[in-house]
Amino acid sequence: MKSYKEDFPLLRNSSIAYLDNAATAQRPEAVLKAEREFYEKYNANPLRGLYQLGMDATDCYEKARETVRDFLHAKKSSEIIFTRNTTESINLVAYSYALNNLKEGDELLVGIDSHHSNLLPWQMAARVTGAKLVFLDCEMDGSYTKEAIEKVITGRTKFAAITHVSNVIGRVNPVEDIIRLVHKNGGVVLVDAAQSAPHLPIDVCAMDVDFLAFSGHKLMAPMGIGVLYGKEKLLDEMPPFLTGGEMIESVTRESAVFAELPHKFEAGTVNGAGAWALKAAIEYINSLGFATLQERELALTTQAMEELKKIPYVNIIGSQDPKEHNGIVNFTVEGVHPHDIASILDGAGVDVRAGHHCAQPLLKHLGVFVTTRASIAFYNDEEDIHRFTEAVKGIRRMMGYAE
Ligand code: PMP
Repeated sequence: MKSYKEDFPLLRNSSIAYLDNAATAQRPEAVLKAEREFYEKYNANPLRGLYQLGMDATDCYEKARETVRDFLHAKKSSEIIFTRNTTESINLVAYSYALNNLKEGDELLVGIDSHHSNLLPWQMAARVTGAKLVFLDCEMDGSYTKEAIEKVITGRTKFAAITHVSNVIGRVNPVEDIIRLVHKNGGVVLVDAAQSAPHLPIDVCAMDVDFLAFSGHKLMAPMGIGVLYGKEKLLDEMPPFLTGGEMIESVTRESAVFAELPHKFEAGTVNGAGAWALKAAIEYINSLGFATLQERELALTTQAMEELKKIPYVNIIGSQDPKEHNGIVNFTVEGVHPHDIASILDGAGVDVRAGHHCAQPLLKHLGVFVTTRASIAFYNDEEDIHRFTEAVKGIRRMMGYAE
């Protein structure tokens, strides 16, 4: 298997098996170079300066927007809003769309596999508008059945917030089916693509999704740059989320005329370097191709799951088929707390995540309290996975069990 670690300064200079990629990815040289390049060559406040350097900074920022548009296959770059992260993108929709469009008697549908970032904003929207929060429950393997989907989506479903790929289970949800049915009933859908954007090609037009959110940092871009895609018609009708500089046409003592899309939703100084480096991250992914990424991730996930399945007392959460994991392998070891597992693995040079993964309602639904998650990226290698599974093999004995 070809090693991509050479492209990643942190991995190339370290012996760590980094398996917490779903929390945040590592950054390739190309991304670090782009971030530095922005500050070294183009640094001025984007969208403001009328001098050449200011225009160069604006140019970087708008070129990045166009790259994201192409990445998502959106029709217009004005439908791409830069935010800080998925959480901010979802809050933007909750405050600007949901608060202005939902009312008592409406239902707001949320998938039970939602990250807290795709649940708390909807709890707020339901509380403020009087709409009812309704859950789409998954099976124990994490799947949403056709029956469950058809039962819960009705003429009262005015909004649905669905996760494309859960950060706990890793399976791709049938978002197209859900979108079709919600639309048929006159509702609007947001898809949380935080965990899908790094692993699968996304086509917002083919999906016919109304809003879609993802974070740059899970896609190898810097922290602090995120994206919200929204259909132009919906975004046009929504009031701004945050107000202040850069999002206005004109201001009087009493009022303001807001800027056109997308600037209406980008108040204050924007993250020019982050956007420029996000462009580099997308170009890096494009240069490899999703097929390559998926092939490597599947091979490594298969290796990890096959080895884990051989270990007594280890239970893998969700589907037992590596094809349905997108690199996310969540597991429990009977009798051992995930915090102990993570710290034993840390001692073996393996970085994993332990806890509730910001998805407490899902874990409760699945009947587990806390778990350990290894999340694999294409730049991991067989040696990382081997070190991980060998370390898991020794955990029960280390904790004083006979086997
Ligand atoms: N949704 C999902 C599915 C996630 O995995 C995460 C990050 N763990 C988020 C939302 C929130 O992302 P961020 O913290 O970058 O806003």
